[in-house]
Amino acid sequence: MSYQHCYADGSSARLPVGKVVCIGRNYADHAKELNNPIPAEPLLFMKPATSIVPMAEPFALPKGLGEVHFETEMALLIGERLSKVDEATALAGISGVGLALDLTLRDIQSQLKSQGQPWEKAKGFDGACPLSVFVPVADAGDLQQLQIRLTVNGELRQDGNTSMMLNPVASLLSYISQFFTLEPGDVVLTGTPAGVGPVRPGDKLWVELDRCLRVETEAC
Ligand code: ZN
Repeated sequence: MSYQHCYADGSSARLPVGKVVCIGRNYADHAKELNNPIPAEPLLFMKPATSIVPMAEPFALPKGLGEVHFETEMALLIGERLSKVDEATALAGISGVGLALDLTLRDIQSQLKSQGQPWEKAKGFDGACPLSVFVPVADAGDLQQLQIRLTVNGELRQDGNTSMMLNPVASLLSYISQFFTLEPGDVVLTGTPAGVGPVRPGDKLWVELDRCLRVETEAC
């Protein structure tokens, strides 16, 4: 499996593809819809580089493993090494802004959670992270004022705004960097707003990040 980070203008980010660090329950309305309490501290998990596939191409869903849910998220491409940094340094280390689907094997995740076991199988499988191209961070505008939308088969399913994040980008990256060094080429997913649901083969998806990005894709 290979993947190269690219910018929307066609240029390549010339960054290696690294790990994907994610936050769960970063939007209160999403935590509520899954009957999860709002965590006192950011709830972090990771997807390996092998989970990344291009969002713009039809992406394959795992078969025979129960329901796969979509979670539409703003993705940040890291351009500088960030280790135990403050918020200003963290912000300056963002290279690009994009879109990701945090695909989740929800049945398997629920089973693992009920047994108190780690979620990796539900979140880190091959193809679990369809990822868009990136817009340079300088062109994206205010990162906490971006509308995120997902339309499935013509029906608007997710419609949130990054202003609703419980942990805004600067504090989230600073927090992550206290535990995991972020390297150039790593990607951070910033959580999903409410409206998550199952995605099935043949579904047509429109994924939008405000005026920055619009991706049309299909699950297969
Ligand atoms: Zn997520």
